[in-house]
Amino acid sequence: MTSCEVINPATEEVLRTVEFVDVEGVDDAVARAASAQRTWARLAPADRAAALRSFAAVVDAHIDELAALEVANSGHPIGNAEWEAGHVRDVLQYYAAAPERLSGKQIPVAGGLDVTFNEPLGVVGVITPWNFPMTIAAWGFAPALAAGNAVVLKPAEWTPLTSVRLGELAVEAGLPEGLLSVLPGRGSVVGERFVTHPAVRKVVFTGSTATGTRVMAGAAAQVKRVTLELGGKSANIVFDDCDLEKAAATAPYGVFDNAGQDCCARSRILVQRNVYDRFMELLEPAVKGVVVGDPASRDTEMGPLVSKAHWEKVSSFVPDDAPVAFRGEAPAGRGYWFAPTVLTAQRADRAFTEEIFGPVVTVLPFDDEADAIAIANDTAYGLSGSIWTDNLSRALRVSRAVEAGNLSVNSHSSVRYTTPFGGFKQSGLGRELGPDAPLSFTETKNVFIAVAESIGENS
Ligand code: ADP
Repeated sequence: MTSCEVINPATEEVLRTVEFVDVEGVDDAVARAASAQRTWARLAPADRAAALRSFAAVVDAHIDELAALEVANSGHPIGNAEWEAGHVRDVLQYYAAAPERLSGKQIPVAGGLDVTFNEPLGVVGVITPWNFPMTIAAWGFAPALAAGNAVVLKPAEWTPLTSVRLGELAVEAGLPEGLLSVLPGRGSVVGERFVTHPAVRKVVFTGSTATGTRVMAGAAAQVKRVTLELGGKSANIVFDDCDLEKAAATAPYGVFDNAGQDCCARSRILVQRNVYDRFMELLEPAVKGVVVGDPASRDTEMGPLVSKAHWEKVSSFVPDDAPVAFRGEAPAGRGYWFAPTVLTAQRADRAFTEEIFGPVVTVLPFDDEADAIAIANDTAYGLSGSIWTDNLSRALRVSRAVEAGNLSVNSHSSVRYTTPFGGFKQSGLGRELGPDAPLSFTETKNVFIAVAESIGENS
């Protein structure tokens, strides 16, 4: 057993010491999960639904506590953290409807009856990143539990506190002991064990493309199922025929939300050349108006970066000679503060091609629709993006042409629990959320039942 100090990124104070689980601890939890899963899967669908609704109700009763933990552990502004805790409740409620709706199919065949069953996989491992600890955990565990699985959940090293609390709340809500186990620990220990343990039948991984590639390669050894949600370098495409004021006023929030520590961050703003100068004039006050400060304050729109190590990584994208157009404000003193920063980088620059995962955005002009699409797609990623235009045909043409899983027109919204979320290309594999998510935690079993020929008039 090792332990790790959890730091408040706004103050640099130690919040708590968390014990890290070792390989034996993982194996024990997986054994308990496998046993709990067998009982859980045998429960009546209505009883599993009721248990998930109880879990949602207990989360609802602890929104303030969960939000306060996330403010302290991750530096999320209080309003965001409350939304995240409420989102966990909503995701649980949404998937509480699934156990009674996993109905399979009846398929017409000769000689009998053919039906499909959506069988649970068994134990599912969920590995989460530090940027949205609660919500991303729920995207994995809620549909997985709803489909009749048990879950072992490994939160990121820096941000385990809300996940640990959710694990306790699950037990408080009456979920069977061991059905959802939260196992804080190192990726190289706990995460790797999820990949190598034969009883873990699927790994849901959210994190960097580099680590996701490694998880996928490891899973291949057992043909283990994976869902991967990885990096992004999404484009915010601003055409000359859009509401330019609105596009500029909202662009900072499309990239600086959660201090840019968001795989959906629209970190490449592409602006049609004939409105570029006007857009930059409008963008400057919008960026300078982003309120960066104490995450516990209700006025705050952006908190600190998550850790010192991450602050250093983000800083490396803004060296002294960086092409800074303008920057916003950030507090001085203790805490991992980073002012919102706008760069006029060139297409080959590292800041324009690599995922920064911080409050740094690059702006580049483009000539026409084809040019915008070509630049947007000139990346190994394909997670999200925004398209600003008042021309409906153009909005649809560009939406179909951009290679990304989640696009928004005249807005920056990416995530609703009712709609599928995931990436093209190296941004991921599979989809989370939406009505079909429970199916990705099942195997389809086909059963053919031979029906005897009629043996007589009266039989
Ligand atoms: P970041 O670089 O942003 O920390 P990672 O992709 O390394 O992102 O981390 C995302 C999650 O993956 C974390 O919970 C981390 O502990 C875990 N992780 C790291 N390395 C591995 C690994 N080799 N196998 C499985 N999980 C890992």
